[in-house]
Amino acid sequence: MDEKKHIPLPLKYRPMRFSDVIGQEHVVRTLCNAIEADRVANAYLFVGSRGIGKTTLSRIFAKALNCLSPEGREPCCKCSNCLEIARGGSMDVTEIDAASHNKVDDVKPIIEDVQFKPSSSKYKIFVIDECHMLSSAAWNALLKTLEEPPPYARFVFATTEGEKVLPTIVSRCQRFDLRRIQTHDIVSRLEHICKEEGIDADDDTLLAIARGAEGGMRDALSSLDQLIAFTGGKITENDALGVFGLVSRAALEGLADAIIAGDVKSILERVESFDSAGKNMRRVAAELMAHFRNLIVVQAAGSRVPSLEATDAQIATLERQAAAIDPSRVFRICDQLAELEEKLRYTLSVRAQIELTLIRASRIASTATVEELMRAVRELKSQTQGGGVSVPARPAPVQAAATAVHIDGARRSISLTAPAAHAAATAVHIDGARRSISLTAPAAHAAAPAVPPQTVPEPVVPESSDPGAMRSKLMDDPKLNSLLLSVPGAKIRDIREA
Ligand SMILES: [Zn+2]
Repeated sequence: MDEKKHIPLPLKYRPMRFSDVIGQEHVVRTLCNAIEADRVANAYLFVGSRGIGKTTLSRIFAKALNCLSPEGREPCCKCSNCLEIARGGSMDVTEIDAASHNKVDDVKPIIEDVQFKPSSSKYKIFVIDECHMLSSAAWNALLKTLEEPPPYARFVFATTEGEKVLPTIVSRCQRFDLRRIQTHDIVSRLEHICKEEGIDADDDTLLAIARGAEGGMRDALSSLDQLIAFTGGKITENDALGVFGLVSRAALEGLADAIIAGDVKSILERVESFDSAGKNMRRVAAELMAHFRNLIVVQAAGSRVPSLEATDAQIATLERQAAAIDPSRVFRICDQLAELEEKLRYTLSVRAQIELTLIRASRIASTATVEELMRAVRELKSQTQGGGVSVPARPAPVQAAATAVHIDGARRSISLTAPAAHAAATAVHIDGARRSISLTAPAAHAAAPAVPPQTVPEPVVPESSDPGAMRSKLMDDPKLNSLLLSVPGAKIRDIREA
C-alpha cells in the first residue's frame, strides 16, 4: 500500500471491533450477548443522529456474525470474510443507502437475493441505511421477507429518524437507540488520535472541536482533519472556534459568571463582543443552556456523575459557580434559557432576544425565590421554638430577611422580621401599595414568654380600614398564599399600609 496516501481520519480511526466503539455500551453489550448465546434476531433497527456509529456498528456486527475465526465475541478482523466486509466487498453482506435507493425496484434485488444461501459465510446480511427514506411500496415489498426470512438472513436497518419508520417494521425489529457521544468521550478520543498523529493541540482546543461536532464522532474527526490541513501540526483553540463560530470555553463561562453576579453591564459587553466577532448566537444560547444544566447536575448530584458532560477545566468552574448560587435560582435561569430557545426559532432579532433573556436571567440570579423565602420563614420558626422552655433566651432577630419576589410579573418587596411573638412579619406591595403583614403561629406563641420582653419590639398593630377586604386580596395571590400556608397553623394577624 502507498504509505504516503492520505487516509481521512474518520476512516483511519473507524472502530473495527466492538471494544473500539465509544459511547454505545448498551447496544454493544446486547449485540455481543446475542451473538454469544446464538440468539441473534432476524432484524435490528439502529436509530440515532448522524456520525455516532450506526453504520460502523452494522459492519462490526456483520463481521462478528460471519467471521471465520472469531475471538470470543469480537471479529478477528483478519480472515477473508472480515476483510471483505470492512472493504464493503463481501458477497454475503449487502449495503443499501435508502436515501438514493428508495423505490420498489431498488429492494427487488434484495428480495431475490435473499432466496440464495450465503456463499462463504454463515449469514446473509442486508444493511439498509437511512431506511426511513424507503417508499411505502418498497417497505410493503420487503415486508413479506421480513415476516418469514430464511434462517440464514439477517437485516440491519439504520436511520436518523426513527419515528418515520412504519410501526409494522419497527415491531419486527429489535430497536436500539444510539446515544449522542458525550463531549468528554470525544475529547479523550481526539487526544489519543492527536498523540498518534503527532498533532499539537491543548484540551480547550479539542473541547472546541468536540463541542462543534455535537455528539458525532465522525464530524469531530472530519473537523480535526480539516484543521490539521489548515494549520499544519499545531492547532489552537481559536482555529477550532473559528471553524464552528463558537465562543471559547472561558468566554462562555465568563458570561455565566456575569449572569450569576447580576452584572448587566458585563452581560451586554460580552454579547456585543460575541456578535461583532460573528459568533453563532444561537449556539451561544444553546451552550449557555447546557452550562446551566450542568450547574444543576453539579448542585444536585456532585461533579463526578456520568451524566455531567464536562472536562476537568469545566468541572472546576462549575464547582465554583455551584457554590455561589442557590439551586432554585439556577432552575429559574434554565427556564428562561429554555424559553429563549423557543423564541429564537421565530425571531429575526436574535441578539436583542438573547440580551433581554440574559438580563432577565441575571435579575433572577440576584433575586430571592419564594422557596428561599419559605425556608427563611421555616428557619425563623424553628429559631423561636428553639428559644423555648429550657434554652436561655436569645435575642430575637429583628430583621431575618429582606428580599424581593416577583409575583405575577410584578416586583414585590417582602421583609421578614422576627419579633418573638410573631413567626414572621412581612411587607408586601399589593396593588401598588406597601402593606406589612404579620403572621402568628401557635408555636411562636409558646416561645414568646422565654424571650426577654425588652428585646422584643412591639408588634405594630395599626388601625386598618378594612382588614377583611385586604386579607381576601392577599389570599387571592396563589404564590403568596402558599408562602403563608407554609407556616403550619399560621394566620394573618393584621395587614397595614406602610
Ligand atoms: Zn474474521
